[in-house]
Amino acid sequence: MTQSVITRFAPSPTGDLHVGGARTALFNWLYAKAHGGKMLLRIEDTDRERSSKKALESILSGMTWLGLDWEGEPVFQYERARRHQEIAEKLLASGYAYRCYASPEELNEMREKARARGLSPCYDGRWRDRDASEAPQGIKPVIRFKMPKEGETKLQDRVQGDVTWKNEALDDFIILRTDKTPTYMLAVVVDDHDMGVTHIIRGNDHFTNAARQIHLYRVLGWNLPTIAHIPLIHGPDNRKLSKRHGALSVNAYRNIGYLPEAVCNYLVRIGWSHGDSEIMSLQQMIEWFDLPSIGKAPGKFDLMKLQNLNGYYIRHSDDEKLVTAIESLLPRLSATSQIEAVPDTSRHAKLLAAMPELKERSKTLVELWEKAAFLFTTRPLTLESKAAEILTDHVKKILKALFPILQEDEEWSSASLESRIKKFACEENIKLSQIAQPLRVSLTGKLTSPGIFDVLTVLGKKESLNRISDQIES
Ligand code: GLU
Repeated sequence: MTQSVITRFAPSPTGDLHVGGARTALFNWLYAKAHGGKMLLRIEDTDRERSSKKALESILSGMTWLGLDWEGEPVFQYERARRHQEIAEKLLASGYAYRCYASPEELNEMREKARARGLSPCYDGRWRDRDASEAPQGIKPVIRFKMPKEGETKLQDRVQGDVTWKNEALDDFIILRTDKTPTYMLAVVVDDHDMGVTHIIRGNDHFTNAARQIHLYRVLGWNLPTIAHIPLIHGPDNRKLSKRHGALSVNAYRNIGYLPEAVCNYLVRIGWSHGDSEIMSLQQMIEWFDLPSIGKAPGKFDLMKLQNLNGYYIRHSDDEKLVTAIESLLPRLSATSQIEAVPDTSRHAKLLAAMPELKERSKTLVELWEKAAFLFTTRPLTLESKAAEILTDHVKKILKALFPILQEDEEWSSASLESRIKKFACEENIKLSQIAQPLRVSLTGKLTSPGIFDVLTVLGKKESLNRISDQIES
């Protein structure tokens, strides 16, 4: 019987769920789904100072919003400290690890030496073969793992390919600190083993850690999971992605009106592709996703692409679903946008009626909502002062002449209104903008709004004529 696939997402709760972490979670989730397996969630909270409840909540809610569900309860790494100590003791007892009493000064000296020779910081193994009787008094030791000093370490990475490290370049790393807390290097191996993880899919920043972790698996007699290190995400300037590049947390994308399906679609396409397919449903992703087709080069973050995809998903979303999504954002929107959350009993119906027009040109739900704001202002409108200046007597005369022409429009569609208004402009020998702007002001109270024909159609004939009439009669 083949072993069923178990992947895991193992975030450290030291910050929000960001684009990179979310993509790692998505890849793990897709791989598990594609193979009829499951994805587990492990919270790597051993760094007590940097871990926070807020970050944990951000990670859990971000994943839930994206639809990346995990099997069972999350495992909290800190709670497993006893088990990590037990394994460290076992390694000590079997001679695969040793107590190291090197002082901070000694370690510093080693670091300086390595640096001077152009090497990365390296522990020189000075306590590897020393007898415990030589241990200095009053110093608490760390426990280090005995790496092989010769030979090579090989890894068949499902994304990076076959890699070889020379063992002489890998020093004896710490597995248990002086306060008996485990290091990442030990905890991750013990937890992956105990959780039955078969596939480790994680960021390439952990690539060299694998060279060390492989040896823990070996001496503990545990099966090495399949390993895949996915390239990191870079900004357009080829540097590691950060806030500077406009990359936000997953929850921030939700709050500014992105749809989870757009974010997932965007994430999966960073560094992975399936032919020329740009748009894919979760179902298609599950069907097509595989590790070898992930590129080795860092993926590029492209905000425009994300926006365009979101626009696509908005255009293709069901109107009712969009209205519900906007409504669920409203409590947050009233704080972040200038528009007050409108307690309008007919809000749902109005938004729904306007949706076919509005969704065509909006890249986010917030944009949709802002474009819809004019629907909820009550008559007579209070005009913004700059907007009011436009409605001179001369302009009002033009609107008065247009009024009966609009009244006659039985169809009241964008097309019928456009043709009537254009014809009127032509006959009066005035530019379309000279009509559009005063109309906009009368209908919305503002100088900017969605296209004027959309405004007329989403307001409907009665409300539009009433709003115009309010202004030309005043
Ligand atoms: N906790 C690590 C991180 O957030 C991941 C460790 C792993 O996947 O092995 O980068």
